Amino acid sequence: MTEILTKNPNFSEDKWTVKQTGCWEWNKARDAAGYGRFWDVKDVKAHRYALALATGGTMPESHIQACHKCDNPPCVNPDHLFWGEQADNSRDMSLKGRGGRPPVIPDSEIPVIQAKHAAGQSMRSLGAEYYTSAVSIFHIVHNNRRAS
Ligand SMILES: [Zn+2]
Repeated sequence: MTEILTKNPNFSEDKWTVKQTGCWEWNKARDAAGYGRFWDVKDVKAHRYALALATGGTMPESHIQACHKCDNPPCVNPDHLFWGEQADNSRDMSLKGRGGRPPVIPDSEIPVIQAKHAAGQSMRSLGAEYYTSAVSIFHIVHNNRRAS
């Protein structure tokens, strides 16, 4: 499903700080991974929204990731972002020496994942969003993550 975006007042220049590196660092809410978040009908990742606005105003499907060239999660400068398949991103991460460890989903995200699943988001789509497998999402949704 492709969403057409309109400019959201929660996404404006006073929400980030322009750094000497050229990064636009999100000043407002950030998630555990450091990505900016804000509210636009639903919870939105700020960098993903920034890139979507800059590339025609449509939000791609969740398996298409907004990746950082600058490796700075709170950065929302569209010039530092590119769309990549999840596989590109994990290859990119292993090139940077961060691969090879299982994704860690913070406890605070568990009720969020459960709620998104209850609202109809598929386990596969949630897996893509959280860089994990549909099986891991299954365990989280059924609340037996600790048993595995
Ligand atoms: Zn940046």
